[in-house]
Amino acid sequence: MTTNSRDRALRERARAVIPGGMYGHESVALLPEDFPQFFSRGEGARIWDADGNEYVDYMCAFGPNLLGYRNPAVEEAASAQAALGDTLTGPSEAMVTLAEDLVSMISHAAWAMFCKNGSDATSMAMVLARAHSGRRKILVAQGAYHGASPWNTPNPKGTLPEDRAHILYFRYDDLDSLRDAFRQADGDVAGVFATPFRHEVFEDQFLPSAEFARGARQLCDDADALLIVDEVRAGFRLARDASWSLLGVEPDLTTWGKVLGNGYPISALLGCEKLRAAASSIYVTGSFWFSAVPMAAAVATLAVVRTSDYLERMIARAEEMRKGIAEQAAAHGFGIRQTGPAQMPQIFFADDPDMRIGYFWAAAAVRRGVYLHPYHNMFATSALTEADIAKTLAATDEAFAELKRAWANIPPQPNPAVLARIKAKALLSPR
Ligand code: PMP
Repeated sequence: MTTNSRDRALRERARAVIPGGMYGHESVALLPEDFPQFFSRGEGARIWDADGNEYVDYMCAFGPNLLGYRNPAVEEAASAQAALGDTLTGPSEAMVTLAEDLVSMISHAAWAMFCKNGSDATSMAMVLARAHSGRRKILVAQGAYHGASPWNTPNPKGTLPEDRAHILYFRYDDLDSLRDAFRQADGDVAGVFATPFRHEVFEDQFLPSAEFARGARQLCDDADALLIVDEVRAGFRLARDASWSLLGVEPDLTTWGKVLGNGYPISALLGCEKLRAAASSIYVTGSFWFSAVPMAAAVATLAVVRTSDYLERMIARAEEMRKGIAEQAAAHGFGIRQTGPAQMPQIFFADDPDMRIGYFWAAAAVRRGVYLHPYHNMFATSALTEADIAKTLAATDEAFAELKRAWANIPPQPNPAVLARIKAKALLSPR
């Protein structure tokens, strides 16, 4: 029997001392009651909430858990470095090794700079693009998330229109729209941001056409602007190189985070040779950017990426899960859309405009020990085992059965904030 008394007590304590009780992407404010807010530990593909309930985890800490929580190789490297020191007066050898490893693995990269979060890396990319060219405009796909900085946060409260005065928008995977944005910028484009594929909340995911990726590269070359691919979410889940290497496209800059240290706090900006001088000219830094433990963890993570079949195993398990869920949905008579790569799945129900059905199904899975997400893309880890997939599919099958029993009587989506997000997406229509 699942209990949540400790989670409730923690939420109560948090409400007194943390604004809103929790904030940011790990807040459960937009999720059903069954989703725990607080967790106590993780191992492999599993997490335990504050009450000790165990879940097969398809969020992977919103991405970072690539190789399994507490992956032995990563933990060993991190512990060995921690025994020597972490945040010192200067960086350790691990910084140089890590930069060498990334430059050897990522085709377009000639150099690497490190920071902590994805937002640090994307904002640094913007600063660098402007420093290199002396131009102002940055082109971003409508509705694309590149971090919580004022120029891109999806919640503009506390930011100014001026923060985005030089951001112009285009439709993802629409070359004409990108061309229009270039035209509008009238020779003033410093850089274009694109994610490897469309992976936004509350909407179906899709891969760009090779024509779009190559066209974006060409438009940037023609205008002498930089192509910046934001790998923070998708990096190393599609390829061992930058994601658009699969489409034959080399960006000028890529931004990395999340998986880089398999959960240890580190992100990176990688760039091509022609940007080396501009990269040396900007002032970017932070108290913890050069800490050695996350760098040692990242070196160990990349060694696994290079030398193991983590990617093929992760994809195989994720595809097994996708196939099983598709079969179950059909057997129970539900239409679903599973979009994006199987290892970064998004699952929505047909005819579910206020998402009450998707929310019900995900909550039913959570109650059965499988942590699925109803509006954010999910993440697979290479630590998923056959047993994890079997437990997942048993839980999702029961969740479909419960949904079928309750279907006609599921109340409308009660959360006004969720309804507002759905409405905003409908207005945007990225396709
Ligand atoms: N870019 C993308 C594509 C992301 O998905 C995210 C985080 N979800 C970020 C940037 C920002 O990363 P962080 O939360 O580590 O600042």
